[in-house]
Amino acid sequence: MDNKNIKNMDLYSGSAGIIEINPELRNIGFADGINISGPLSEKKKTQMIDKAAQKFGEFLDALGCDWKNDPNSKETPKRVAKAYVNDLWAGRYNELPKITTFPNLEYDGMIFQGNIPLVSMCSHHHQTIMGRVHVAYIPKINQEIIGLSKINRIVEHYGRRGAIQENLTVRIHDSINSIIKSNKGVAVMIEATHNCVQCRGVGHSGTKMKTSKLTGDFIDSAKTRNEFYEFIKDSK
Ligand SMILES: [Zn+2]
Repeated sequence: MDNKNIKNMDLYSGSAGIIEINPELRNIGFADGINISGPLSEKKKTQMIDKAAQKFGEFLDALGCDWKNDPNSKETPKRVAKAYVNDLWAGRYNELPKITTFPNLEYDGMIFQGNIPLVSMCSHHHQTIMGRVHVAYIPKINQEIIGLSKINRIVEHYGRRGAIQENLTVRIHDSINSIIKSNKGVAVMIEATHNCVQCRGVGHSGTKMKTSKLTGDFIDSAKTRNEFYEFIKDSK
């Protein structure tokens, strides 16, 4: 595999195991991973959209849909391919944004960023996952803190690709944990509705999946953990 486009990332390498520990925390090519050949230029994205659109047209053909002669559907393969590459799976094709950190001179309390919007897509059924992500960490004095909006960007990056909510929770947690290497704990909680549960199979609307990944003081201290969940309640 040609790794030159992804040299700035440390990667898990398929099923072969870990190459390096990293900001980019997913298997290459997996449904919830990054693109097989790494981040794409705009030109490569256009080529991918064209190829995917052609194949989606064939998919509609296989479903017995006369999309070519339907004015509402004749551009649909292109629209679908664009939505995947530019929006729904953008986190597969773009690099993890640069994460700015700042020196932390005196704060050792909790830093909480709640109610971060999540738009993702389940890797099993390719239906949307919509929800909210709540993130907290406790920095150490004389170490680093993350620029606040970068937490939102991390959620966007890992959310905007195929996802299994359980894994996505770990991914966001581990990303914060690897950026702020010296911390006293990281907590991530995701609450989301899965369209695959609402619109197919059991067909139940209104159910919500909650997942959490806590480490450090969030596990060791009931007070810290409770504060995290209180902050979540207050942020709604
Ligand atoms: Zn699903």
